[in-house]
Amino acid sequence: MGPSEDPSTNPQNQGTKRRTWRGRSRVCLLKGCGRKFRPDRPWARYCSEHCREQARIWRQWKARRQYRQSEHGRQKRQAQSHRYRVRQKLRKKQKRAPRSRREGHRKRIYFRCSCDRPGCYDEFQRSRRSPLQRFCSHACRRAVERVLERERHWRERRSAGP
Ligand SMILES: [Zn+2]
Ligand SMILES: [Zn+2]
Repeated sequence: MGPSEDPSTNPQNQGTKRRTWRGRSRVCLLKGCGRKFRPDRPWARYCSEHCREQARIWRQWKARRQYRQSEHGRQKRQAQSHRYRVRQKLRKKQKRAPRSRREGHRKRIYFRCSCDRPGCYDEFQRSRRSPLQRFCSHACRRAVERVLERERHWRERRSAGP
């Protein structure tokens, strides 16, 4: 980026309030990158435009994957409860039976989960001991936790500040 494209050199932004903010160097959140960078925004998570783009692609992949799984799960649950519902309907044309949120949890469907760290496409199976596991590895979990902690501190400081 040439100096003329830098918004901070825009005369309207220069001086008073807008200074180029530079935080302490941090590590890029994207899995497989590992580069250190000096953020120009407090909430910056990635070292470069490239990594931001990769994270965006990853989010799309994740969303598609989750959609497929929930569709699959929904169809399965529908098939399971189909007979039950038919009987219900025959019994009487009643107000809709309250739908339980837990529906479908009775019969455990084991899906392979994908890691929640941006850029990580690894999958894992949730075990009974950690049914809420979200990351493929300790490293991924720590990477995301560090970022969330940092952002929480930042928000707290900002709301406490003048
Ligand atoms: Zn990066
Ligand atoms: Zn991972």
